Amino acid sequence: MTDTLQKFMFENAGVRGELVELESSWQHMLSHKTYPKAVQTMLGELMAASALLSANLKFNGTMIMQIHGDGPVKLMVVECDANLRLRATAKLADDAVIEDHETLKELVHAHGQGRFVITLDPNDKVPGQQAYQGIVPLDGDSVATVIENYMLRSEQLDTKLWLAADDKVTRGLLLQKLPEIGGSGVQAEDGEDMWAHAVMLGDTLKHEELLSTNIETLMRRLFWEQTLRVFDPLSVQFHCNCSREKVGDMLKMLGTEEVASALTEVGHLDINCDFCGKQYSFDQVDCAQLFLAPTLSEGIQAASGTPH
Ligand SMILES: [Zn+2]
Repeated sequence: MTDTLQKFMFENAGVRGELVELESSWQHMLSHKTYPKAVQTMLGELMAASALLSANLKFNGTMIMQIHGDGPVKLMVVECDANLRLRATAKLADDAVIEDHETLKELVHAHGQGRFVITLDPNDKVPGQQAYQGIVPLDGDSVATVIENYMLRSEQLDTKLWLAADDKVTRGLLLQKLPEIGGSGVQAEDGEDMWAHAVMLGDTLKHEELLSTNIETLMRRLFWEQTLRVFDPLSVQFHCNCSREKVGDMLKMLGTEEVASALTEVGHLDINCDFCGKQYSFDQVDCAQLFLAPTLSEGIQAASGTPH
């Protein structure tokens, strides 16, 4: 089961658009972790936004969106790779009590310290290459405005987003003004600014309508008067790239003492992936091997590298 992302262009108008609909990937996400309603909505909107932005990138790697919160939500992460495979998770403060109506500001920017981070992590990094990272304050009262402000500040791109999520589906519409070529904006024949017109059409979209209408119908309903170039739909799906090896690396980072003390309590460690819920179990022997392995392989490498 895959979900769909539909790209389109306003013909001769310098405006591009995308609609995305996440149902099975969103359901899969929610099947192993339950969030308070306000958190669920925000995470769903961030997931739709992440697919919309990723689909516009000509980039072979993973886009990671993170919200570092200073309120009851400590962290929200959505990752989307170049094939539109995504995963997401949220971490709440231990004592968090979250009401249904709480706003983005209350959830993650309660003391004005929330941060929004976008990282572009290339697939084939050359040694020493850093991932690109943009960090901005949480400027806006919704996921859509935070991302619009980010795109304008960091990418100098006029972008508008309409997002909605409930426990069944998350949908989104993105409109973006293409960078002007040769210094003059592309105008419609009657001189009307097509960007403003496109945004005005987008603004007719009601929140309830976005939740209850499939993207094919939405595109017809919103843009029936426009000449659109519609591209082949792209598929979007949930995918988690967690592995026993990565969990092992994380344990190694914790250090021998930390792991040993956790082991003495219960005799084994069960670690669940935050993104997909998969459980990885490490007993005493597994852990001993974990801390032994690097020393061994380093020894082998050193030996093979010795000149004869
Ligand atoms: Zn996983």
